[in-house]
Amino acid sequence: MNTTPATKRPICSNCNRPVRNCICALISTITNEVEILILQHPDEAPNAKNTAGLLHLSLKSSQLKIGEHFVTQDLDSWLFADQKQPLLLYPEIPEYQALGLGAPRTLPSLNLMAPNQLRLVVIDATWRKSRKMLYLNRTLQILPRMMLTETPPSIYKIRKAHSENQLSTLEASCYALQQLEQQQVDYAPLLSAMRLFVAQQSAFVPMLHDQNDLSNPFAPDERNPNL
Ligand SMILES: [Zn+2]
Repeated sequence: MNTTPATKRPICSNCNRPVRNCICALISTITNEVEILILQHPDEAPNAKNTAGLLHLSLKSSQLKIGEHFVTQDLDSWLFADQKQPLLLYPEIPEYQALGLGAPRTLPSLNLMAPNQLRLVVIDATWRKSRKMLYLNRTLQILPRMMLTETPPSIYKIRKAHSENQLSTLEASCYALQQLEQQQVDYAPLLSAMRLFVAQQSAFVPMLHDQNDLSNPFAPDERNPNL
């Protein structure tokens, strides 16, 4: 157990959260076949309601890197390690040329690739910050994009969402992995853990006082097309 210097609150050394808010009991071990790389905006790391930590600690094959503008060589080494094919989980940006963004490469034929040849790349940030991260990291712009279709409604109700079908990072990642792994891995324990996480966090932070918006932007926000 560690303590933070500013507050001396005891911190759980496993999940890195204040002990009263520890999520270790919610961690389930999921043996995902498609590796996941979570690129987390620095604002998300200390946010008690962020779901990426639970996701990362529950998936056997997961990396989490915190930053906004990554060093290109570092980012490339994470993206392309072990000759895996990285796929960015991100909605289409029809106006990408007008915004000066690079064109995403064509999605490879996924049915010709084994799940363990793939790497799912997820940006864990608010919608606005995720666009900024995309803008700042050119390699992310040109990665083949994966989009989700027909997902169940979000069970994540503790942060304000821009649209009804917007999902948390944890949910979006589970559904994307399920899609890529053709339902071979069961993510139900992790989604159930998230329901408990939502209940736990709602008890600490009343939603009415929350001014943050939902992490991982799933649906494009038509009202905010600019970076
Ligand atoms: Zn913990």
